[in-house]
Amino acid sequence: MLESWSNVVFGMECLGCGTASETLDPWLCPACRNALVGLSKNACCPRSDVVCLFPMEPLTRRLIHLLKYRGMPGMATYLVKYSCVMTGGNEETFTEYARPLYFVPVPLHRARFRERGYNQAEKIALALASLTGGQVCRWLRRKTFKVSQTRLSREGREQNVSDAFRSNLPKNLPSKGTVIIVDDVYTTGATTGACIDAFGNDFPLDVKVCTLLYDKPFSATMDYVADRRAFYTY
Ligand SMILES: [Zn+2]
Repeated sequence: MLESWSNVVFGMECLGCGTASETLDPWLCPACRNALVGLSKNACCPRSDVVCLFPMEPLTRRLIHLLKYRGMPGMATYLVKYSCVMTGGNEETFTEYARPLYFVPVPLHRARFRERGYNQAEKIALALASLTGGQVCRWLRRKTFKVSQTRLSREGREQNVSDAFRSNLPKNLPSKGTVIIVDDVYTTGATTGACIDAFGNDFPLDVKVCTLLYDKPFSATMDYVADRRAFYTY
């Protein structure tokens, strides 16, 4: 296990399949990168106002685990870059949204931020903004500490986050454009829904949602269980 990790850290092995390769980019081997691009083309979105860049599959789950729990914030840019948003596989993505685009990351609680050192949603928002000509806006704050979402049932999650955020809007709020709430994973929509609610009923801009992954609600609990086990099995 230790030897396996030292190889990963020093770039010997593909982070997708774990095989040694001399043609890493430097995260994935060409086969895994092609698989990643293919997954993005098959991404499904649970609602018309939600864009999820990838489905939750073993490869994408492993990569987002690296982003969230293994201190690899650069994975956010990598995943956005190889999603259909940038590779043209889904021409509809963002093209119908009124400009400018304001990417608003779901805020991380301070305790989590201190532990992780960065907010993964903000890294994703930065990547989306830089590749679409939009901007990142910290227009949300988290109110109180909440236990990890992945441990709760759907009802529990909605109750848990329903009052978790407050808006942090500028006094001179733009009068046109689209706000895109950015998060890492969309499951039930409870978190991003609570973010939209925090803006209030009279919010003047269109609000959409964009996440890296879509995880079907019934599989999220299984993913959580799997995450708690050994990450690399090879
Ligand atoms: Zn690979």
